[in-house]
Amino acid sequence: MKVLSNAQLGDLRSQYFSSGLGCVSTKFIESGQGSILRDVEGREYIDFAGGIGAMSVGHSHPKIVAAIKSQAEKMTHCCIMINQYPPAIALAEKLCQITPGEFPKKVVLFSSGAEAVENAVKIARYYTKRPAIIVFENAYHGRTLLTMTMTSKMKPYKFGFGPFAPEIYRMPFGDVAGPEKLYDFFVKYVNPEAVAAVVAEPVQGEGGFIAPPPDYFQGLVKICHDNGILFVADEIQSGLGRTGKMFAIEHWGVEPDIMTVGKSLAAGMPLSAVVGKAEIMDCVHPWGLGGTYGGNPVACAAALAFMEVFESENMLGKSIALGKKLHDRFEKWQKKFDLIGEIRGLGAMLGLALVKGPKGEPAAEEAGQLVNYCHENGLIILSCGTYGNVIRTLIPFVITDDQLEKGLAIMEDGLRNISK
Ligand code: PMP
Repeated sequence: MKVLSNAQLGDLRSQYFSSGLGCVSTKFIESGQGSILRDVEGREYIDFAGGIGAMSVGHSHPKIVAAIKSQAEKMTHCCIMINQYPPAIALAEKLCQITPGEFPKKVVLFSSGAEAVENAVKIARYYTKRPAIIVFENAYHGRTLLTMTMTSKMKPYKFGFGPFAPEIYRMPFGDVAGPEKLYDFFVKYVNPEAVAAVVAEPVQGEGGFIAPPPDYFQGLVKICHDNGILFVADEIQSGLGRTGKMFAIEHWGVEPDIMTVGKSLAAGMPLSAVVGKAEIMDCVHPWGLGGTYGGNPVACAAALAFMEVFESENMLGKSIALGKKLHDRFEKWQKKFDLIGEIRGLGAMLGLALVKGPKGEPAAEEAGQLVNYCHENGLIILSCGTYGNVIRTLIPFVITDDQLEKGLAIMEDGLRNISK
């Protein structure tokens, strides 16, 4: 294949790709290692975005690459609904062991996060024989019809794509009176007897890295269970060590009835999972769940290697240390830059909410400027938030101190530049 420049590839992209698919950067990546990405022109970037939180153990980790190669040489696909294979079973066992709750659990594997959330809803509805699902303001659950409906933000996710799926109800998230609001909600919007599940991201991701107060989920889950409602934790962005616990919901000591896991699970290979109480997961009739590629063997092999690397290289410890370093730095910046309103998130799922003006209005334009500044200066970073004003970090846990310092220095220069 001919080697093309970023600009040439950009032209071809405009010609052949739907403009409905957005992209933060104009650069085309050729390779990656750890927390460094290299574009087709040989320029290197420090990666603070990690493929939207999918690369927590870093790009092309040698053990994961080896596992992918070895499985690909043996068998890439036979479909889990026709013939099964050992890596899927080993992975299901592992997922049941690492997720919170001492009760027996079971698993179904899928390809994307949205698919996992869709299936969690299907299972919850089947089990409870109830139609309604309660979700939250600022939630993000995916881009399929159902998960787009469950997602909160209109543009870019929902605008023009209606009509939406029925029986999705949305309540405020994470305020101190939060759990009790559910009672109010039952009076005003939906009967508790009609509600199959409350679906929540323990720490909201796309919606702005919002972590609810320390006693929030205990109260919420109690009200759910008192009313025969299942609690589903969408851990697709917050899970697998990102917040300093294996799963973010563990910060609240709550055991979800069903969980969704994705992103880092197979270190960049498309794989997601629904993990839940065995009794709930077994309610569906045979063949009611599935999909051609769900639990693909190469993805399962990558996930097993991810699990091995996670433990043997103390990824949780690395994540906790990274979270602390980020928090310390962000606190210093908060004193320095008026632009920084709040430090958001938990552990290494940390962001900065940018604000401006006497009322602290969301500074979305400035967040965009900061993202662009960073990209131009060799740091890949993302914004998020309902108002687009939160700069978030989803840094590979394997980042070296030197790379982290360089990345933070670019961010700080950017903040200084924009604050002028
Ligand atoms: N749920 C959450 C909490 C997410 O952050 C995402 C992806 N950002 C999804 C679901 C959807 O995952 P996917 O893009 O793999 O479909």
